[in-house]
Amino acid sequence: MKRLLIATHNPGKVREYRQLLRDLPLELTYLDEVGITEEVEETGQTFLENAIQKAMGYAELSGMLTLADDSGLEVDALGGAPGVHSSRYAGPGASDQERIDKLLRELEGVPEEERTARFRCVIAVATPDGRLCAAQGTVEGIITESPRGEHGFGYDPIFYLPDKGRTMAELLPEEKNRISHRARAAHAIKPLLKSCGEEGTTNE
Ligand code: IMP
Repeated sequence: MKRLLIATHNPGKVREYRQLLRDLPLELTYLDEVGITEEVEETGQTFLENAIQKAMGYAELSGMLTLADDSGLEVDALGGAPGVHSSRYAGPGASDQERIDKLLRELEGVPEEERTARFRCVIAVATPDGRLCAAQGTVEGIITESPRGEHGFGYDPIFYLPDKGRTMAELLPEEKNRISHRARAAHAIKPLLKSCGEEGTTNE
């Protein structure tokens, strides 16, 4: 079976992609499993630029069909921040909890109706011979005043979904995987991934 490299070190993301792409005839692997320790730099100003940089960089490094995503949280009251800086929002090496604490501090005193936000995910798929495709997905929500829920990762405990009456971290993994920004982007990339990955790759 042809292999697809998921270009991440984040086990939370790998788990989600295994679930989201389970119906594709592809064997999923990820950076730590194939022993790639080099970091491809993310210097783009947009999720799309970063996803493309990572997909192309790791496809070249691995010689494999490669999927990379760039994702993050856009908070309207903060002009779209943390956005592409979501993972570095509280500085390098900070924990999810520290990022959450910083965001809640920034939003202190902001009323509920102005705490609107969305998760955005852009997925890019690249082949070692330079073919490329991309898709995106978003999910809308509201930033809570305190964290709730044990599932998921990152900002999930403070991202409230009005339709569900729960935070993203209060959803079971399979529920999150039906409605998340990553689920929507994965759904959109599937038909493209079939044609993008069909020929010319060297990882049979
Ligand atoms: P990256 O796409 O690996 O650069 O991650 C971007 C940042 O956005 C990370 O700090 C994550 O915590 C956050 N993020 C991305 N997707 C999710 C999600 O599904 N839930 C919560 N946080 C997320």
